[in-house]
Amino acid sequence: PEYLSKPIKNICCIGAGYVGGPTCSIIAYKCPHIQVNVVDLSQERINAWNSPNIPIYEPGLNEIVQKCIGKNLHFTTKVEECIEKADIIFISVNTPTKTYGVGLGRAPDLTYVESAARTISKVAKTSKIIVEKSTVPVKAAESITNMLKSNHQPNVEFQVLSNPEFLAEGTAINDLLKPDRILIGGDNNEKGKWAIGQLSSVYENWVEKSLIITTNTWSSELSKLAANAMLAQRISSVNSISAICEASGADIEHVSRAIGFDTRIGNKFLQASVGFGGSCFQKDINNLIYLCENLNLKEVAEYWHQVLVINDYQKKRFVDKIVKCLFNTLNNKKITLLGFAFKKNTGDTRESAAIQICKYFLDEGALITVLDPKVEYEQMILELSNPQLNLPIEMVKRKVQLCSTDVIEACKGSHALVVCTEWDIFKTYDYKGIYEIMQKPAHIFDGRLILDHEQLISIGFHVEAVGKKLNN
Ligand code: NAD
Repeated sequence: PEYLSKPIKNICCIGAGYVGGPTCSIIAYKCPHIQVNVVDLSQERINAWNSPNIPIYEPGLNEIVQKCIGKNLHFTTKVEECIEKADIIFISVNTPTKTYGVGLGRAPDLTYVESAARTISKVAKTSKIIVEKSTVPVKAAESITNMLKSNHQPNVEFQVLSNPEFLAEGTAINDLLKPDRILIGGDNNEKGKWAIGQLSSVYENWVEKSLIITTNTWSSELSKLAANAMLAQRISSVNSISAICEASGADIEHVSRAIGFDTRIGNKFLQASVGFGGSCFQKDINNLIYLCENLNLKEVAEYWHQVLVINDYQKKRFVDKIVKCLFNTLNNKKITLLGFAFKKNTGDTRESAAIQICKYFLDEGALITVLDPKVEYEQMILELSNPQLNLPIEMVKRKVQLCSTDVIEACKGSHALVVCTEWDIFKTYDYKGIYEIMQKPAHIFDGRLILDHEQLISIGFHVEAVGKKLNN
């Protein structure tokens, strides 16, 4: 058939976010023979991609964008025009969690996926391969196939593939250039196999063929949810052990190191912390729990729900200890938060642990100064104005300040420093100088285990760290 010989010359990606932007920049960089158009409804986001200040901070990304932009990489709001020209269309739009529901899980909201699919259906005049890049529920490809039938022209065919993205923010460029694997799910028939081969041929420009795994569509969709659920579960497992350490006198860093030597366990992702954040883990576990409930797998749903329960508990436990150490009241006390982003090397604050921690502090009457090199004030205030936190916006603006880099200003008169993000720069501060300008007793609460606790204690600080019982 005619379609078998068609080489891929043009890719369109719907959604210029944390996934669409970096993924397509790498495709453009590695495939100079392919025109890559990244489209978005947000003019502001597209303008930012076309400016020297690209909208997301990701080490190494800006350099790659600047190399390709205007050549074979384009960011535009001309969604329809770009869809029409494309051989392959990535759907890389946001899939947030619905805020309501009856069981333990929460369904993902597929509004944006549907809207993208309907636009494709309306404007496509030739057959296309549609790639589900967004994280979606199992069987979403089936729904997308049906959505694509909404308005399509005669003789136009769509092959829907699942190709979940496994990049981690903060290391996205390395993850995209050297992926552990590329997963492609599709139909097990002639056209399905052809479509998988076409998408695979794009990745083969820089990824070894043996790392490109193909499965049926549902397995691919479920693998993404399972991978994130297991990563998050690992964090909750370590954090649950950190609670035992604090209570017993064992040291979580020693325990993590010891268990990490076991090759079946491995030594990555074993750091205790204030709990995981980010736009994916909680959302994807909610998605998985919702799926279990729909499949009448109540015990399995409860099992995964515990990962979220422990994550919330870890933040509450951390704050409870802070309140206790500060003589059971935070009222009008200045607290300096080191970090607001959900992890280092990103400016992303979605579902950051710092948000819930700030909520607890504000409920206790604290005044907060946040120090974060990449987070913007408006963004931070927006996170804290989330109706679910139930914090009056005027109060938030009055009580929460942001200092990007001014350490002295951030720490002056503060009762406690609280490490929420593991930014490397926090390790380099002059803590002797900081001690001098703080209220006494001066406290440090290390929620990421990045500081030298012995040294801080010798300066005079009272130090508490997740998973440790320190000799203050
Ligand atoms: P994002 O919110 O940063 O970007 C999504 C973009 O899609 C937005 O800019 C939005 O304006 C645009 N959009 C929505 N509907 C549109 C439409 N109909 N037409 C054109 N543009 C539209 O989201 P993200 O972080 O890039 O995540 C996208 C998907 O990838 C999600 O499903 C997420 O779960 C998944 N994912 C995210 C990560 C991550 O680290 N952020 C990693 C792997 C997978």
